[in-house]
Amino acid sequence: MKLKALNGFKDTLPGETPLWRRLEDLARDVFARFTFSEIRLPILEKTDLFARSIGAATDIVEKEMYTFPEKQITMRPEATASLLRAYIEHGLYVQKPVQRLFTIGPMFRHERPQQGRLRQFHQMDAEILGSANPRVDAELMAMGAMLLSELGLTVSLELNSLGCPVCRPGFREGLLVFLASRQEALCDDCRRRMHTNPLRVLDCKNPACRGIVEDAPSIQDHLCPDCRTHFVAVQDGLDQLGIVYSLNRFMVRGLDYYCRTTFEFITADLGSQSAVCAGGRYDGLVEELGGPKTPGIGFAMGMERLVLLLQKQQQPAAGAEVDLFIAGLGEAASRLCFSLMHRLRQAGARVMMDPDGRSLKSQMKQADKAFARFVLILGDAELERNTGMLRDMTTQEQQEVSLGDTRMLLDAIAA
Ligand code: ATP
Ligand code: MG
Repeated sequence: MKLKALNGFKDTLPGETPLWRRLEDLARDVFARFTFSEIRLPILEKTDLFARSIGAATDIVEKEMYTFPEKQITMRPEATASLLRAYIEHGLYVQKPVQRLFTIGPMFRHERPQQGRLRQFHQMDAEILGSANPRVDAELMAMGAMLLSELGLTVSLELNSLGCPVCRPGFREGLLVFLASRQEALCDDCRRRMHTNPLRVLDCKNPACRGIVEDAPSIQDHLCPDCRTHFVAVQDGLDQLGIVYSLNRFMVRGLDYYCRTTFEFITADLGSQSAVCAGGRYDGLVEELGGPKTPGIGFAMGMERLVLLLQKQQQPAAGAEVDLFIAGLGEAASRLCFSLMHRLRQAGARVMMDPDGRSLKSQMKQADKAFARFVLILGDAELERNTGMLRDMTTQEQQEVSLGDTRMLLDAIAA
């Protein structure tokens, strides 16, 4: 039987890693500009952490978690819960009134794999803890928008408010009455979740349900005065920063913990896997998990989806990863190449050779394949003079260089 990776688990091959690195490097750069600090978190947590934070009546907790039941531990399906657990456990609220934290890594959900939807996928997660100010909401969205725009991606930002424990119950009641009067026409899923989580019906993808909720009451018309003021201020903040957005009253997000602001960055290029970044405010959650009363807001970006979008872009030719290929002809030359290679690497150059000293033709082919900028050829004649023939692979020009002075050789290939 052929060994294969599990369905929904993917290898990232050397040809793809430069794009992943570009994404991650730019993200780190943008996060740093917004003064976020990195936190690294474990992959396994107690199952209870996710049940309590994400919510028992959510798709994730109901059917998507990788859990070891006998140990009551679960592979994290998202990062916010773990991040808040760490925030509380280490008393990070004592150090700074407002903590800005990000983390990057794999998440695990048992769902049906398709393009842009895997069972192990990667998120870049950013959270601001300790401020309820609507300006912070706008700032976080602006950070997402800046990263996506600097990646050269075209996305749209959709915004909603889910209200708070003061106004949401009333809206929920009204929505339930509305849905109950039309329940025969709802899909099976929605008829069931109407009672557990009626807001989820609003973002059902089923066309029949979509038609029905068109006429449903809008949460945006049922916000309490505080939530209304917050919602208006968030929009004002986005306007000040020149961030374009549209209001979407059907966006409710899959996690129970959200209140007030929720948002998604959407692409038109990935079919139904359209969200590349999603987030929202969760003011009661830290307290719910046993910490002090702390407002918070965060987002998670799906890296696989971003990489797919980057792959669709016209990419500039891959940059050379090898500065110098040293081609030794014969054992004596290869021996010299071996130590020379090491000295050049110590000096910072990216250098390779063929450990098995194949023919010159084969070695030139290998240098081509590696996109080496230069090749240094060492045959018996050069060996006698302690020199090598340095070939610039772009211009095909050749010059004889001395091997006595590593500095000179480094200068020659640094050009
Ligand atoms: P979706 O509606 O696409 O299932 P979600 O609401 O479950 O997304 P979140 O939990 O908000 O997603 O996660 C934030 C982001 O992480 C998503 O917008 C998406 O880009 C990415 N993401 C979520 N699940 C997956 C997955 N299974 N595979 C790849 N990326 C994912
Ligand atoms: Mg999902």
